[in-house]
Amino acid sequence: MKYNLSDPAIVRTVLSRYGFSFSKALGQNFLIDPDVCPAMAEAAVLSPEDGVLEIGPGIGVLTAELCARAKKVVSVELDRRLLSVLADTLSEFDNIEIVNEDVLKLDLHALLREKFADCARVTVCANLPYYITSPVVMKLLEDRLPLSQIVVMVQKEAAERLCAEVGTREAGAVTAAVQYYASAETLFGVGRESFVPSPNVDSAVIRLAVRETPEFEIDDEKFFFQMVKAAFAQRRKTAQNGISAGMGLSKAQVAAALEAVGLPANVRAEKIPMETMAALSNILLSYRT
Ligand code: SAM
Repeated sequence: MKYNLSDPAIVRTVLSRYGFSFSKALGQNFLIDPDVCPAMAEAAVLSPEDGVLEIGPGIGVLTAELCARAKKVVSVELDRRLLSVLADTLSEFDNIEIVNEDVLKLDLHALLREKFADCARVTVCANLPYYITSPVVMKLLEDRLPLSQIVVMVQKEAAERLCAEVGTREAGAVTAAVQYYASAETLFGVGRESFVPSPNVDSAVIRLAVRETPEFEIDDEKFFFQMVKAAFAQRRKTAQNGISAGMGLSKAQVAAALEAVGLPANVRAEKIPMETMAALSNILLSYRT
């Protein structure tokens, strides 16, 4: 590699050469632990024929590890001040393309079609900015992109939620979406001291292995996810209240559907397993049509 970007002194030298200062608003905490990026790249790139979509390359510390292993890497970076830094730090690689966009505004289907036509499979690998973790993960999954897996670093608490089992205390609405589209696991934890500047939270790297077909039969996905969000909307209240308020259904209708799937009317969302959530939404949908 051209620079040792895991050395904080070198990171500072490179950044000061370009007059760069960190933006808190863009979640700019750059990795400086020499073990983390190689481990993430190893987990993400399963063959030299793989393509990788990276979100937020920063100064390219993870990007370089991905470029060394994959056929092609496309990195989406919102901060245009980093473009000249990346042109320098990644100058030895000819399989990298930087896209200066907001990942949340991109048509990722078009991007994948255009950039990765010659790759065997496409993986997402990123140290995600904390402020958009859930929207990015949801976009990657809900858009039904042709991805094989998503290996991302997120805040430790977000990792716990994303990898939880629906029907347990750690679960939330986002857990149901993850479980529907993928199987999730935590790969390893990363302490706050592994970043510059150091954030005031710890992180973890997770893997979402995207399912070819969803695990449960759901008659209407949009309705299902609306219902799950409504059920979790007020965590201290019953699922019946949340679903009734959020879905425009009477409490009696929700109670009847809960009874039909074998649940008491006062059950909380966090106690309802994924399969039962799916059955519940199919019944409630039939009340609507
Ligand atoms: N990958 C680098 C690393 O591990 O050191 C940087 C990770 S840093 C946590 C997040 C990166 O995402 C920053 O470079 C930031 O500018 C970029 N970013 C923030 N919001 C973004 C967005 N909406 N779209 C694309 N990139 C974004």
